[in-house]
Amino acid sequence: MKFLAANPPDLPVSVVEGHLIRAYGLTGRMKPLYSERDQNLLLRLPDRRAFVVKVMNGSEDAGQLDCQIAALDHIARVDPTLNVPRVLPTLEGGPLSEIAAPDGALFQCYLLSFLEGEIAVERPLSRGELHRIGALLAQLQTAMRGFFHPSLNARPLLWDPRQIGQLSGHVDLLPSEHRGVARQAIDRFLGRTLPRLAGLRAQALHADLHRHNLVVAPDEAPLGVIDFGDMLHGPIVIDLANALSDFSDAETLLPTTEAILSGFTARIPLEDAETDTLYDLVLMRVLVAALIMAYRATHTPDTPDYTAGEAFGSFALMRQIAALGPDTLTDHFRKASGMAPAPGRSVPLSGLLERRRRLMGSRPYLFYDPPLHMVRGDGVWLTDAGGRRYLDFYNNVPIVGHCNPAVTEAIARQARVLNTNTRYLGEQVLDYAERLGALTGGALTACAFVNSGSEANDIAWRMACAWTGATGFLCQDFAYHGITEAIDAVSPSASKTGVLPPHVRTLMAPDTYNNPGLAAEDFAADTDRAIASLAEAGVKPAAVIIDSAFMTNGVLEPLPGYVAGVFERVRAAGGLCIADEVQSGFGRMGGHFWGYQHHGVTPDFVTIGKPAGNGHPIGVVLTRPEILDHFETTTAFFSTFGGNNVSAAAGLAVLDAIDRQDLTDHAARMGARFAEGLRKLQARHPIIGCVRATGLAVGLELVADRATRAPAAAQTGRLIDLLKDEGVLVGSEGIRGNIVKMRPPLVVSAADIDFALAALDRALSRLEP
Ligand code: PMP
Repeated sequence: MKFLAANPPDLPVSVVEGHLIRAYGLTGRMKPLYSERDQNLLLRLPDRRAFVVKVMNGSEDAGQLDCQIAALDHIARVDPTLNVPRVLPTLEGGPLSEIAAPDGALFQCYLLSFLEGEIAVERPLSRGELHRIGALLAQLQTAMRGFFHPSLNARPLLWDPRQIGQLSGHVDLLPSEHRGVARQAIDRFLGRTLPRLAGLRAQALHADLHRHNLVVAPDEAPLGVIDFGDMLHGPIVIDLANALSDFSDAETLLPTTEAILSGFTARIPLEDAETDTLYDLVLMRVLVAALIMAYRATHTPDTPDYTAGEAFGSFALMRQIAALGPDTLTDHFRKASGMAPAPGRSVPLSGLLERRRRLMGSRPYLFYDPPLHMVRGDGVWLTDAGGRRYLDFYNNVPIVGHCNPAVTEAIARQARVLNTNTRYLGEQVLDYAERLGALTGGALTACAFVNSGSEANDIAWRMACAWTGATGFLCQDFAYHGITEAIDAVSPSASKTGVLPPHVRTLMAPDTYNNPGLAAEDFAADTDRAIASLAEAGVKPAAVIIDSAFMTNGVLEPLPGYVAGVFERVRAAGGLCIADEVQSGFGRMGGHFWGYQHHGVTPDFVTIGKPAGNGHPIGVVLTRPEILDHFETTTAFFSTFGGNNVSAAAGLAVLDAIDRQDLTDHAARMGARFAEGLRKLQARHPIIGCVRATGLAVGLELVADRATRAPAAAQTGRLIDLLKDEGVLVGSEGIRGNIVKMRPPLVVSAADIDFALAALDRALSRLEP
């Protein structure tokens, strides 16, 4: 407590003036400035330059001073754009001089450049300014990351919330009506948050950014930070919490903290464990200030009381924080930081559903009733707002795992550097195109970049029309290929009318389970019928489009010779062949990168989407160079976002992840394990009529009667709900709605597969009685 009681030195101005001439060769006008600890004077030179003359408190230790000077020097070197004071050397070149008081006492003295502007305490701050304050704090932390000085933590600084134990004995000095809240807050902090702080990102911190230490200038001039006298080494959240608290008052707490946090986290995103400590740290800051003030008022009543101002030790603020409580405020901090609500913190579903209806159409297409509200993903797992985890065997987009860190990092890194379009030269998109082309074995090396599977198919179709001059389009009888008008025409599974446009013919899907006795050649021969039917209408086929996994048709397994037979017939009629690899590509079917490789064919187009960016929107058409060149003579093809730098970085990161983890082969191994388990289930559960699995493209056909294969569509829907209750997400599919469709991320583990099998076993048992 000795430190708190020491008053600042008080040398006559004339003594300081004489010293400045001798030690620095400077004369100018002098004006005293307020300081809590030191004697500060403003020196304005005739040339308008200004310095703060600091005569140090005799109790300040030399190491502490050296630390401040070294920190300012470090910042000046690391980030010269930061508006912080610079140390002016003496005539002898050192940072410090020694000044003698009339009584002979010696004080350390140094000069800092004066930051022009006004101290922020003098006026209200706009949201924009508060946002900039957050950004400034992050910039300052970034500059101080590499700084260390042994005296940083040499003295226990009472302003450091981790030292609250030293102040907690003084709670009785507070007005009696506030003691209860204070004690509760300290107990919670000591029991819950203090132990957690030790595991958080820590570094040298300014730790005292508040209105008295912030210099604001008009317009967009950089904000300035002064007073490095309270630096400490500790978790970065201490710095942040101090600012959140010091710039807030009871009325402005929410908007102020929102603005500062959004500015800070735009530069330094917070970790979950960090936001988790903010509530307690913000509250501690108010309390520490209140306790120090109360102590001073009792023990050194003549101390100038600038800390009694409204920004410090505000009991109203303390009560407001405590009244909102940790859950509400942590939600608010997370939202302001661009983070999802913490697992376990849910927004009422009914409210969300109502908003969804109002904003996104009154007939929302949602999975499950009641629908799920997901808040985070990680590998094969999704977490809902209630904190419940689900094994995701449905979503085929996050092929290398939800929120794959390598992919998210590649996206973030590129987004920070450049994101523009393919009308400029750029390397990433070429690297990506080369990698994709190489994956086709060099067959299809020309790329057109778009943003979705639908667009990729649309452009492939237009290229086929341009190349062939024909207009007919063939697809499977229950296909899905996308949402554009041209592609909707070959997506009968999404049709509500069942009416096909006149230029489209569908092909009988190679479903050997429901058509026993038919062979590949029989199914392929249906193409002759379709082409003949088009010919009757005077139309030639421009293209056939095939999803290599026949996903909507019920996840049909490859039937050797079938696709080759279709392609042969279409080509003979002058058409081109589109392999829609939106679902089947990227190792989904195991063993090969592309689904069409399972059919032993080479298409004229490969279209990709969904997993290409692992959730970042990417669509690509791969074709032969002459087809792309021809298309570009007929149309000025360009897609604003297609192939942008960030998308290319995402696409490359996905390919890298597949390579590094050997996911194509892993999918084959995991698929085999899953299929084997499913066949065992089939032996015990008669409702499973057929198990179909190619790698991790897996379907179960549920039947009411194995002899007649009568579909068990209602039970399929029920099974999907039961599996959700078991914590496993799957989908339904097929022309009769009786296929359970499962497509886990390729990073699925053996343990995940076994978890899903056990859940299926239980759900099937509950289904049957
Ligand atoms: N092709 C196939 C095989 C698909 O499954 C889908 C999407 N379900 C698409 C194309 C369309 O992709 P997107 O939704 O990205 O436009």
